[in-house]
Amino acid sequence: MSKALITEAKRHPDRAWLAEVSFTVLQQSLRDVDRAYNNFFASLSGKRQGARVGPPRFKRRSGTQSIRFTRGAAFRILDNGRLRLPKIGALKVAWSRDMPSDPSSVTVLKTPTGKYYASFVIAVADGAQKLEPLDDSDTETGVDHGLAHFAVLRGGRVVESPRFLRTLERKLKRAQRALAGKTKGSANRVKARVKVAKIHEDIKYARSDWINKQVIGILRENQAVYVEDLHVKGLARGRSAKSVHDASFGMFLARLESKAQRTGRTFARVDRCFPSTRLCSECGALTGPRGLEGLNIRMWECECGAVHDRDRNAEINIRREGQRLVAAGQADT
Ligand SMILES: [Zn+2]
Repeated sequence: MSKALITEAKRHPDRAWLAEVSFTVLQQSLRDVDRAYNNFFASLSGKRQGARVGPPRFKRRSGTQSIRFTRGAAFRILDNGRLRLPKIGALKVAWSRDMPSDPSSVTVLKTPTGKYYASFVIAVADGAQKLEPLDDSDTETGVDHGLAHFAVLRGGRVVESPRFLRTLERKLKRAQRALAGKTKGSANRVKARVKVAKIHEDIKYARSDWINKQVIGILRENQAVYVEDLHVKGLARGRSAKSVHDASFGMFLARLESKAQRTGRTFARVDRCFPSTRLCSECGALTGPRGLEGLNIRMWECECGAVHDRDRNAEINIRREGQRLVAAGQADT
């Protein structure tokens, strides 16, 4: 394939431009297609678990472009801090952090707004990120995805959705409406599109940064974290729940899980059928708010006399169920 799609293709005048980039970049694209087909065939035959994988499609014209250089392509970080890429040259880079070891590859991204990013793949020794274990039994928390709050932790501690996300979301809606009103093919439409892309980018980086801070904060203070499995992956993809709020929570859970593993913390998901909201954490009766009409109920009183804050009660139930699953060795971690 490499011979036909790279070496031979370059000889054709229409595709001579392929020779303008490093050979490795082309090879890496082929490797990506190879992996996509392997995943597709493995999914067809049932060898691959999880959601069904479709055949590879041509890259959508999303406006983001990327190329990947491997070590074989002789990319190098120079002593003066520049990044040297084959056939491109030595680039000035604003480094966001020190490199802990030699990177095995670098991906250069160009975003729709014309910014360039270099992201490196680096091998880190197992356990390098381990946190000091906490042996106090209080250092365990459930995480409840509240309706009014981003998350509720042990003791009713509330993590609010950050204000800047709501502001940006409003800005995005406005820009999208403006874009929809512009004539196709006009210069103003191009301008409006860049503006939408810019806000998307702002949201992406602000959110990512904020989530990382929440994740590391929660893991520093807790030896075990139990969450409700909301299947946010499906939710975030669906048309109904595409709010920044829900999409953020999905990303938050995914990062919490992987960071927990790397830092040596316990992480467990509680089945989404578990009635965390309805269960009274005092007596175990299913007396809590249910269904659509229960969505607005913040406080409720159980038959046993206990008065509950909805989210606080749910956190207790999630935590207990998570602890039970881990103790029984049934945690799907
Ligand atoms: Zn009760």
